[in-house]
Amino acid sequence: MNETGWDIVGHEWAVGLLQRAVARDELFHAYLFTGPPGVGKSTLALTLARVLFCAGESRPCGNCQPCRLVASGNHPDLHFLSPESRSGQMTIGQIRDLQRQLALTPNMGRRRVAILEGFERANPSAANALLKTLEEPPPYAVLILLSPDSDVLLPTVVSRCQVISLRPLPASLIRRALEERHGVDPERARLLAHLSGGRMGWAVRAVQDSTLLQRRQRRLEELSALLQAPLVERFRYAAQMARDTELAGEVLDVWASWWRDVMLLAGGAKGPLTNPDRGEELEKLAARLGPRAASALVDATQAAGECLRRNVNPRLALEVLLAFDLPRIS
Ligand SMILES: [Zn+2]
Repeated sequence: MNETGWDIVGHEWAVGLLQRAVARDELFHAYLFTGPPGVGKSTLALTLARVLFCAGESRPCGNCQPCRLVASGNHPDLHFLSPESRSGQMTIGQIRDLQRQLALTPNMGRRRVAILEGFERANPSAANALLKTLEEPPPYAVLILLSPDSDVLLPTVVSRCQVISLRPLPASLIRRALEERHGVDPERARLLAHLSGGRMGWAVRAVQDSTLLQRRQRRLEELSALLQAPLVERFRYAAQMARDTELAGEVLDVWASWWRDVMLLAGGAKGPLTNPDRGEELEKLAARLGPRAASALVDATQAAGECLRRNVNPRLALEVLLAFDLPRIS
């Protein structure tokens, strides 16, 4: 527990804001939580839902019936929406279903809460359909939209939400939380805290799923191989990535942290690296690329990520990224 009493690591400002709104019964009907994947948006959204449904003394108590129903994923007034796995998009059909459910008064308490995860992948008709609900929400409804950025969403949607931006946490906070709450030994906690880039959710996933680190290792090896590969091979990789947006997101995540480290080193910064275990390789690249090229690669990686999130020409953006004149490491 942090000082706020909600079981959340960091993000005190956001938690405080929501707690005051709950205490005064002055909640907005719609929130938009932004921040990088794994930073804690879903955890915060779920905690707010638990607080709103809880029938205990100090909310969320974790023991009452509503708390237990939320924990088991069976609370009848809590609605989860995420992009369809087939199309990778949130569709108008999903929004209409949600609207039908939200139109009914709550089953158990005073509220219905809807959490819309990955809202940046709502297609335009779905986003427009949701606007109606945001304009005239049922009095008992609280909608929580989750998206990495607000600028990839319709401005009309954003303007009807209270936007809460979650920023990456300091590595020291994550390290401590991993040691104290998850029993991770100090050395591993330190490495994971750095690799997490300030994202607690990512760090916890890495503790629970050892394949996450192996996958990261694989992505970095692929990147090393691509640095030496002819253009035609790089484009083949780009095409493959563009077909699997989830994979591409994971790859770009790792690459972004990689090029940021190169940029830091090329600029002579002394700050902690996100990939301290690859320091030697990073140093070599930094020396060959220089700060300007490194920062161009950071920008290109971010631009590719943005195209992917907006689903606008992701393949083209990935090709642009991979067409860079990259130096060989070895
Ligand atoms: Zn409770």
